[in-house]
Amino acid sequence: MSSLISNNNTSANRRLAVHLNHLVPSTTSPLAQQASSSNNSSSTIEQQVCAGQIIQANPTLGYTYPNEENDRYSSISYNYNHTFDVKKMQAWLNGSFDKKAMYKFLDNPLLLKRSTNMPKEEARELTLQQVAFLCKSGLYRISDMKKTPELILNRLENTGLIESSSNVKLGVQLVLFAGSILNLGTKKHHDKYLKAAECIELPGMFAMTEIEHGSNVRQLQTTATFDENTNEFIINTPNKGAVKWWLGNAACHGVMATVFARLILKGKDYGVHAFLCPIRDAQTHKLMPGVIAGDCGDKIGLHGIDNGFLEFTNVRVPYDNLLDRFGGIDLNTKSYKSDYENPDRRFAAVLGELITGRVTLISGSINCRRAALMIATRYASQRCQFGPGKDLPEQPILDYKSHKVKLMPIIASAYAYEFTKRKVIKKYCRMHLEKVSDDELQEVHALAAGVKAVITWDTQEYLQTLREMCGGHAYSAYNRLGAVRDDHDVFQTFEGDNTVLIQQLGGFLLKEFSRQFTGEMISDSINYIRKQVGGMLTKRNPVITRFASKKHLRNSEFHLQAFEYRTAKLLQECAIEINGRKKKQGMFHAFNESLPKLIRLGRAYVEQVALQDFLSEIENITDSELKRILKLMADLFALDTMSKNIGEFLDLIKKNKFSAIQNMIEWLCDELRVHAVSLVDAFGFPDFLLDAPIGKRDHGNYVHHILDYALTRNKGNADIVGKMVTAKKVNKKQVVRDERETNDVMEIDL
Ligand SMILES: Cc1cc2nc3c(=O)[nH]c(=O)nc-3n(C[C@H](O)[C@H](O)[C@H](O)COP(=O)(O)OP(=O)(O)OC[C@H]3O[C@@H](n4cnc5c(N)ncnc54)[C@H](O)[C@@H]3O)c2cc1C
Repeated sequence: MSSLISNNNTSANRRLAVHLNHLVPSTTSPLAQQASSSNNSSSTIEQQVCAGQIIQANPTLGYTYPNEENDRYSSISYNYNHTFDVKKMQAWLNGSFDKKAMYKFLDNPLLLKRSTNMPKEEARELTLQQVAFLCKSGLYRISDMKKTPELILNRLENTGLIESSSNVKLGVQLVLFAGSILNLGTKKHHDKYLKAAECIELPGMFAMTEIEHGSNVRQLQTTATFDENTNEFIINTPNKGAVKWWLGNAACHGVMATVFARLILKGKDYGVHAFLCPIRDAQTHKLMPGVIAGDCGDKIGLHGIDNGFLEFTNVRVPYDNLLDRFGGIDLNTKSYKSDYENPDRRFAAVLGELITGRVTLISGSINCRRAALMIATRYASQRCQFGPGKDLPEQPILDYKSHKVKLMPIIASAYAYEFTKRKVIKKYCRMHLEKVSDDELQEVHALAAGVKAVITWDTQEYLQTLREMCGGHAYSAYNRLGAVRDDHDVFQTFEGDNTVLIQQLGGFLLKEFSRQFTGEMISDSINYIRKQVGGMLTKRNPVITRFASKKHLRNSEFHLQAFEYRTAKLLQECAIEINGRKKKQGMFHAFNESLPKLIRLGRAYVEQVALQDFLSEIENITDSELKRILKLMADLFALDTMSKNIGEFLDLIKKNKFSAIQNMIEWLCDELRVHAVSLVDAFGFPDFLLDAPIGKRDHGNYVHHILDYALTRNKGNADIVGKMVTAKKVNKKQVVRDERETNDVMEIDL
């Protein structure tokens, strides 16, 4: 069979070659040599595969990358026959950014140390050192955000695979603390503080959240009362509920905080403003007079971050410590001044400037999803369990249908959302580089909020799924899936709780529809929405609702129309419901009643945008091989999304069609299975950053790596290093099967 294949290098043969990847033992890998010298001739392919031996990639069968073995910054599996040109796919997915340069920079012994399982104090110290190293490199000058935002965001994104605590602490220092100075302050603040903040000479905090208020920032209680005699603000924590809580850097390392407090002038409350407030003496690290700082204690994840609390008692700061870009005090007249007459709009502008954190979380979350996918997919392609019968090899777990239908849609989503992320970043960058209209600003904020919510929600669910898909080995901290899952969990909460954020997008969509009609919120726009949705409804053809041919189910126009219909319908229903209730119940309660639907609307819109952008990117690809595979992925993304939210598509999809969609999803997963390893290799993370024994790119060696990590990274095993005689191990499963002479392969290896 192999000679047949080698004569014809078609894509079908490449696919077959990948299937064979796990069947043919390698004769040259060190593990194989060791096994063949010690094992007797009865060693079966199954035994060798189970021992982690692999084929030597055969260049005539597919795309092979033998030279990649020596490239520490490559992510491409080299003992493997790839089904498509992974380098081309990588180039398409990465765009123009030079990731290798970043990887070289991150390849530093200090940055590669893991803090995950250290005692809290040690983890915090290491995290601080790593963040200091990063800040001092000069690569992350947040002040350049106004000049080269895309470059800074790219660097932050690609730093994402070092320890999560360091990555998030870097975000607190640069995006939150330095970012608040940049975005809420004026030139005097930039000149005085920005450089020191960027290079962490001035370790900072972002002190917004209080014990009693997180999402509802408008109700923060900390006060900053203006003293007209001294031109100072006096900061106070009026009650226990107003103690600032959860602040990164507050427990140990922070020297100055951006404190969000109510500006009180002549007894009048002008709402929440931001003030720079010294917390510790930079030299002695002693707390400043009137400040108490403490530790919030142990957390579910991010153990390297010193989240803490602050209490203020008559802490005086000069007027100039008010970050006064959006509002301040005229020191001559001692009166409040702001370019925004409407305090609501002023407050919205302040909060709007905090969008950077959300944008970085979108990239960070996609990175976590991809890293977990690289580990889980490579493992699934080499881990064998059960098989068709005696003397036949066990099957890679990736070939179980249940495994495929879990894994492939996640891979598809990790491709699809690349372009939603890029859209948000592009709009964000435009906002920094050009003068954009208020409408455009609102759209960026709403989109970033909704995309952050949907992506981080889904990633969290996927991380748990992927952890389970790797079985017991993923429960080992060495494989990092648990730590990534636990550290990522809070992505759903900080930088805005997802449920609260996605309402911002839902509200924006409602407002947009209503504005197009009368300029008034919801009520009079119903007819307009009816027309929009009505148009789609009349287009709906009963034949189409039952239509279930393969061609139709893979038709992108059908997918897009279905997604648009879903959004429009939810929009219509929300508008009608809220409008119907608001007279009786008032707007707050009417809105509240529709929240579950509004949240579904937000998700529907984000998924629609994701599909639209993914499809239009695929449209532009000239390489037919990549185009074909990516179209399969777009189809899978579309149909899997429909299937998961079928209740919202019922008008368009009848029962028979739903069954056909489910079959089509399985078919697409089968089709994509052979590309799985190549698809995740294209994500680009090198082994030294993934750092997971079950997910390395020397395909087939996971057993060796598991033992190696346990022996070399665990001091408790020092005595047995070099003493294990694994070659003598009896294959228990084989013995059982020989004894019973049965084809029943559902024996569990105890
Ligand atoms: C590890 C960590 C680090 C953090 N770092 C910082 C930091 O450095 N600086 C800082 O200022 N803050 C920080 N935070 C705080 C974080 O920003 C808040 O936790 C977040 O904004 C959510 O607020 P909350 O915790 O008060 O939740 P709440 O607002 O109380 O929400 C609780 C629940 O109620 C629901 N809910 C609330 N309002 C609504 C609504 N209108 N409609 C529907 N449901 C609603 C939410 O969906 C959520 O499920 C951090 C938090 C954590 C956990």
